[in-house]
Formats: sequence, structure tokens, C-alpha cells
Amino acid sequence: MIESLADYPWIAGSIDNIKQRATAGSLAHALLLASPPGIGSDLWASTLSQSLLCERDKWEQGCGCQSCNWFAAGSHPDYKVIQTEEKSAVIKVAQIQAVVDFVVKTSQCGTKVILIKDAERMNLSASNALLKTLEEPQGNCYILLHSNSPGRLLPTIRSRTQLQQLDVPSKAQTVEFLTARGVEELPRLFAKRALVAPLQLVELLASDDYADRKRWLLALAEKQSIDVLQAAKKFSSTKIDDCIYWWIAYVQEAIRQIDQPDHNWFAFLAKLTSLYDRLLSGANPNAQLTLETLLMDWYRMSRKFDFHLEEDVTIKRLSE
Ligand SMILES: [Zn+2]
Repeated sequence: MIESLADYPWIAGSIDNIKQRATAGSLAHALLLASPPGIGSDLWASTLSQSLLCERDKWEQGCGCQSCNWFAAGSHPDYKVIQTEEKSAVIKVAQIQAVVDFVVKTSQCGTKVILIKDAERMNLSASNALLKTLEEPQGNCYILLHSNSPGRLLPTIRSRTQLQQLDVPSKAQTVEFLTARGVEELPRLFAKRALVAPLQLVELLASDDYADRKRWLLALAEKQSIDVLQAAKKFSSTKIDDCIYWWIAYVQEAIRQIDQPDHNWFAFLAKLTSLYDRLLSGANPNAQLTLETLLMDWYRMSRKFDFHLEEDVTIKRLSE
């Protein structure tokens, strides 16, 4: 599927907004592009870069000017992207030194753009090396710091940049985006959150992990005449630490819903939590046996209480 900006109306809205600032001359040359993850901030940052470089000032994709052609080919001489290099979790000072050199270089088409991806990953010396450049803005050079965790940037870096936040998609935009990608189900768990990250959700729903989790919940929600041996067998191939991790969340939710849960619930929760800790530190119990024992406890307890786990994670049709 070829994506275009029209598929991301919330990004197009943000770009328009920045365009107005640029036209009014109130756009700073050092921008902090802040956004939560999973809503397309990479596309936002690269579209904005292309727009700032465009020779015709059209702020449109497929403009056809030399600059936009270079950009599309990935060979723009006035565009530099900095990101963590392979095997490194941080952006190093040598990479920022390259930025400093690039800033003073002569531009080929009039404007230069430097995009620093995941800017919060700059280590202390890299951040300090960038400060001076941020303090001395160059007329034709934009430095874009992109970050999904802007709070982790040094305050001195933040104070020298103009904050631009990517608009979060509205519920309607999210639903439309997901529907266009064949996602016909929207877990209510996500619908309840303040922010639904549609790109993250598409990825999650397509993953094996999600399918396993859904099967696991359905098994737990079963209250009548369950065959514990069969149920445990079905899941012995799933990673046991995943099952336990999800289970802890469901037990916590059940406890929230139940009117006066008895001590068995808390004991069960403690049992799961301590098992999870042991699994993380390398314990390797027999998955089938462990799940059997726990499932017996679970069904014995859960039958006596009224709660609706399925209400929280039931797959709900978007059209409903
Ligand atoms: Zn152009």
C-alpha cells in the first residue's frame, strides 16, 4: 500500500500549522518535534524536512522541483539525518560534530535541514556540542530535533528550541485509519485510553503475540465445565512468561471489579507475581504442569465471583 500524507490527516494538519508560522516568519530555526510514539511522527518529521527544503515553497508532496526530486531519491545535498548508528544506543559527539560542519557548509538550493532522530539519545557530550550551534542560528539552516520522549532532553537543549507538537489523531481519524487498513476490530481496552496510537495498534494486531493473548483471555473467561488439562496443553507452546504476564493484568482487573474480593484473590495475585519474577530470573518450570495447577485455582475462584473480563478486552466491531 502506497501511503500518502492524505492518509494521515492529523499530520497534514500539523504541517499546515507549521507552514503558517513559517509564512508569518515566526518559525524558529531550531525546532523540537515532539510526539507520542505510534502516531506517525517519522513521516511528520521527514515531510516537514522536505517542505522546508522545497524550492517552490509548495509544501506539497510530488512537487517536482529539483529539491523535492533529490529528497525523493534520498540524495539531497542540503539534507542531513542523524540517528543512532548500528549497535549503539546513543548519538555520539562525533555525529554532532558532523552537524556543526554541515551547518557552515554552503547550501546548494538555498536552505539546509538537519534532522536529528530520537534526539533524546544524544549523550551528554553530544548534547553539549550541539548547544552552541543552537545558540547561533543560521538564516538558511533548520535543525529539527525529533523525539518521542522530549522530557529526556537536556533542559538547556529544550530551552533553545521551539516546541512543535504533533496533533494526536482524533477518535474518528483513528477509526478511519484502522478501517482503511483492514482492522475491523478495536479492542475496548485501547478505546478507553486517552490516546490510541493507530500505527502501533496495526502492528500489534498483526502480531502472533496479540493472537496468543486473545486466545489466553478467552480460555480464562471460560467458566463452565472447562477441561483444565486441555486448556493448559493448548498454551504450553506459548511462552509461559507471556501467559503469566497477561494473567497478572487480568487478575488485577478482576479484583478491581469484584465487590469485596476475598483473600484468595490477593494470594493468587501474589503467587502469579512471584512466579513471574522467578521466570524473569531464569527459572524454567514445566509449563504444562504449572499452568494446570494455576488454572485449577483460577477456575475454582473465578466461578464464584461476578466480573466481566471479556468486557474489558472484548473485541468490539467498529461499526457498533
Ligand atoms: Zn518542491
